[in-house]
Amino acid sequence: MKYGGIYIHIPFCIKKCPYCNFYSVTELSYINSFFKSVIKEIKSRKDKSFIANSIYFGGGTPTLIQPNIIAELISAVRNNFTILPNSEITAEANPGTINKKNLPLLKKAGINRLNIGVQSFNNSALKILNRIHTVKDAQIAYYDARNAGFSNIGIDLIYAIPGQTLKEMIKDFKKAANMSPEHISGYILTLEHRTPIYSDVMNNVLKKTGEKLQSKMFLSAVRFLKNSGYKQYEISNFAKADQFRSAHNLKYWTGDAYKGFGPSAHSFDKKKRYWNISDIKKYIQRIDNNKTVIEQSETLTTEQKIIEFIYLGLRHLGIDIKDFNFKFKANFIANYNKALHKLVEEKLIKIDSDKCGLTEKGMLFADYAAKMLISDL
Ligand code: SF4
Repeated sequence: MKYGGIYIHIPFCIKKCPYCNFYSVTELSYINSFFKSVIKEIKSRKDKSFIANSIYFGGGTPTLIQPNIIAELISAVRNNFTILPNSEITAEANPGTINKKNLPLLKKAGINRLNIGVQSFNNSALKILNRIHTVKDAQIAYYDARNAGFSNIGIDLIYAIPGQTLKEMIKDFKKAANMSPEHISGYILTLEHRTPIYSDVMNNVLKKTGEKLQSKMFLSAVRFLKNSGYKQYEISNFAKADQFRSAHNLKYWTGDAYKGFGPSAHSFDKKKRYWNISDIKKYIQRIDNNKTVIEQSETLTTEQKIIEFIYLGLRHLGIDIKDFNFKFKANFIANYNKALHKLVEEKLIKIDSDKCGLTEKGMLFADYAAKMLISDL
């Protein structure tokens, strides 16, 4: 038996946000053919021995498509894989696309968790991010979702937005916590190459938030959310209680298997990672012609597996030392003695008998700590 999660990429957006490098298109005329193609892809990869406890609709903007399409996709997944009762079924939701009308239908379709991309409670910041919604839209969307019966809601925030002050950033987190969602994610704005926001920063149209301020913002967010009753379970993710951690995203962070469908979707079977082409036209054409939509695959070497285990372990709840020793037939403490010693001295990591995790200060240097350990490989 194989266990894991199912991911479906819905590659449509009303307009492109200038910071985003996820694969999505604004030509909504493709929706119907896409839907037929993705159903065909799901059927072609039928595997009832694959047992999943999570289905995740990401994008793009999953809430842009009709709830009856979502319902059909869920039933295709149920017919072709084994989906456990009470599985977590999430849809990423853009506040500009959910309302009193479609929310109850999404619930009826089987969605039991919403992840709302609020991003900021400041209209000026939303303008810089070129979002399609205002603060008011996001607040209304959240309460509409509650009224439709959603009892598991996550709010996503972005911070270190050009021009944003520490005070404004804290205000965003306060407003989010006051709404009492079950889950809050707070991501530092990443300036991805080849995005419009990256060019604006490079051309001095927008001012990049300095590293010092970013660090202050990060620590303030962590402390504020902890004091507000949210438990941090990954560097950027916080849940009110363990049952509200994202069961699906946990699979990425703990190295579990997942099957991805739709253009650009990634899959992982614990040995091999493979991903679909990031081109809606080609995706539809290839499915029509019964050709593979896999663009590339890579089989992880033991060294790559160790590197991932260290990176993900540090970002998540700490490296599970017993698990590491068992998986890689190694002695973590002895093997990484030199790097561990230095990182403990620098107060970046803490080690107990079971776990090697980042300190609060260490969370600011997660990549550095991981690189130190890996250099000891
Ligand atoms: S709505 Fe989401 S997926 Fe679409 S462009 Fe904006 S950030 Fe990217």
